[in-house]
Amino acid sequence: MKINIIGGGVVGCIQAIEFKRLGFDVAIYEKNNIGSGSTNSGAGIMYPLLPHLYDAKVYDFIQDSKTYYSFLNKTISELFDIDIEYFKSGMLVNIEDLKPLEDWLIKKKIEYNLKDYKGLTGIFISDVYQINPKKLILGLVKYMKYLGIHVYENQHIQLNTKKQFTDDSNNVIDGDKFVLTAGAWTSSLNSHLTGKIYPIKGQLIEFENTSQLNLEHIIYKDKFYLLQRQNGSLIAGSTLENVGFNEDLSPDDLMMLRKKAENILPELKKHKILNHWYGFRPGSKDNIPIIMQDSDNLNTFYNVGHFRYGISMAPATTKKLVNLF
Ligand SMILES: Cc1cc2nc3c(=O)[nH]c(=O)nc-3n(C[C@H](O)[C@H](O)[C@H](O)COP(=O)(O)OP(=O)(O)OC[C@H]3O[C@@H](n4cnc5c(N)ncnc54)[C@H](O)[C@@H]3O)c2cc1C
Repeated sequence: MKINIIGGGVVGCIQAIEFKRLGFDVAIYEKNNIGSGSTNSGAGIMYPLLPHLYDAKVYDFIQDSKTYYSFLNKTISELFDIDIEYFKSGMLVNIEDLKPLEDWLIKKKIEYNLKDYKGLTGIFISDVYQINPKKLILGLVKYMKYLGIHVYENQHIQLNTKKQFTDDSNNVIDGDKFVLTAGAWTSSLNSHLTGKIYPIKGQLIEFENTSQLNLEHIIYKDKFYLLQRQNGSLIAGSTLENVGFNEDLSPDDLMMLRKKAENILPELKKHKILNHWYGFRPGSKDNIPIIMQDSDNLNTFYNVGHFRYGISMAPATTKKLVNLF
């Protein structure tokens, strides 16, 4: 059976890898470069920021994905010598009312403690991982090619009037099944999903090497987070903007993000900003992905709408989609 995956973000890549490992012939089509959608823009926190405020499914998908990330971490490191920077950093949550989070942690029997860290007091959850999304994509591309998956970049796939998928040269793509993993853009391939999957813009900034600040843990405060990459750069964000596919990045936005970061860690005032970027998250109701077979075109499936946690949830939602076959 030939399976075509449309959309090369983290969800499409992992979906392609899993079908290939099951023995199918697999191709993946991406309109730009693999990872260039929301995935490369992500921070890489592998945990819900305020888990008690989400539907239980979000935490469950993230938990169910952990073993797979350990496997990817090991495989990509052994085969290609790429470090995807997947490690347990823990997260300090500093919010005014800690009680609802504490009640949730107790109910879920999750280990935590009250901790003072970098001048903040909050709940420290130790079992929180982080990853470097760009390095993850680098590793996933190599792994897909290594497994023999056909990877087609710069191919903007469209649906023609006969409900066939066509490539950039207008050729009909043949295959037995199609899996749409086109993130925030999915509704352009299925108008029924308009309003169900929509872009939510998120902006992040990256500070220059801040190794001397030694931020071992993720910090979350006032709807904002900080985390450090292994090269010492520090990521701060993010925004949640319902502005369609508006690509503007303004100096005012950058200043607003800088101020929020400095409010958490005043030492950042001394540091330069290296990068400022945005991504379009695939927004969905309650952050719950849509994983389904198309009722009109039975050869078409969807794994979309991972919103704020697509990097952390992708392996588990992939497994759920495989089970629909
Ligand atoms: C600022 C920010 C911070 C984030 N932080 C985190 C975090 O800390 N942890 C976490 O888990 N998640 C985080 N996310 C969310 C995460 O990035 C997304 O949930 C995840 O990347 C979604 O993956 P995806 O594969 O569904 O979508 P995408 O990565 O957007 O991939 C979809 C791909 O489909 C392609 N495509 C679309 N239409 C077509 C077409 N017609 N033909 C061919 N290709 C097409 C697009 O170009 C795109 O590359 C963050 C997102 C942002 C923006």
